[in-house]
Amino acid sequence: MNHPLTRLHDDIDNRVKAIRDGHPDWLCCKGCASCCRQLADIPRLTAAEWALLRTGLTALPPEQLTRIAGDIAALAARASRPVVCPMLDQASSACLVYAQRPVACRSYGFYVQRELGLYCGDIEARVAEGELADVVWGNHDVIDRQLGGLGESRPLTAWFAQWYAPAAG
Ligand code: SF4
Ligand code: SF4
Repeated sequence: MNHPLTRLHDDIDNRVKAIRDGHPDWLCCKGCASCCRQLADIPRLTAAEWALLRTGLTALPPEQLTRIAGDIAALAARASRPVVCPMLDQASSACLVYAQRPVACRSYGFYVQRELGLYCGDIEARVAEGELADVVWGNHDVIDRQLGGLGESRPLTAWFAQWYAPAAG
């Protein structure tokens, strides 16, 4: 039986595929990383999401991990918002841990939360122009309920600080 996080990924993948199939020109694509550049706050991850993300971080070249560690330390000390995701490669606008990225990154752009609406302003602008009326959005409240069963939730900065030990020298 699949791990609950894998099942959640599968559910999101199915929703994303259904939306993309109906809209081959969907805005979300490699190189569009506006969302990763303006996170409303430091990402929070459940224990299961962190365990997966850690495998992605561990597999990175040491210099990339060192850069990310520095950015995460700076993030922990920073009060202003929004923030740039430390796992974004700013030169290429690519996610360095794409296969291990958190649930919020997978659902963003394809799910709606009842009280908050859509999250992506670019997609919301299309909706406001009368496009995308046929889209069946995912319900983010359902995701939040499933995340509740995936272990303690902590900010990325806290998970990282308890795990990462800079190389000596
Ligand atoms: S959610 Fe919005 S900003 Fe993020 S990749 Fe999709 S279109 Fe781009
Ligand atoms: S983990 Fe990757 S997809 Fe998620 S916000 Fe950071 S760079 Fe973007």
